Amino acid sequence: MDLQKYRELLLKEQRKLMEYLKKQLEVEERLGDEWNSPKDFEEWAYFTYAENDLSIKARQKLNRLREIKEALKRIEKGSYGICESCGSQIEPERLELIPWTKYCSKCARRQPEEL
Ligand SMILES: [Zn+2]
Repeated sequence: MDLQKYRELLLKEQRKLMEYLKKQLEVEERLGDEWNSPKDFEEWAYFTYAENDLSIKARQKLNRLREIKEALKRIEKGSYGICESCGSQIEPERLELIPWTKYCSKCARRQPEEL
């Protein structure tokens, strides 16, 4: 499996989400240069903003950021691309579309929140 490719897809999506959230939350002046470190960005946002202050869309994007972070960890641990439910290899076409997914397409159908 071409892990490097999926890693790049994940990082690209991460940058896109952070650009969006940066605008949405007007974090630039609050965070200064620190926001460039994606490490704990979503924790920071959750911590800084009360649940109700975030739009549904912003919350979805923060959740996506969290999923991306977990996927990047799985790449490091070597468990990336393995379905967490049935243990089989996740289809490459699926990983290209949703590189942060934890489930193969068969199991995802039983996990509606993943779609
Ligand atoms: Zn599965």
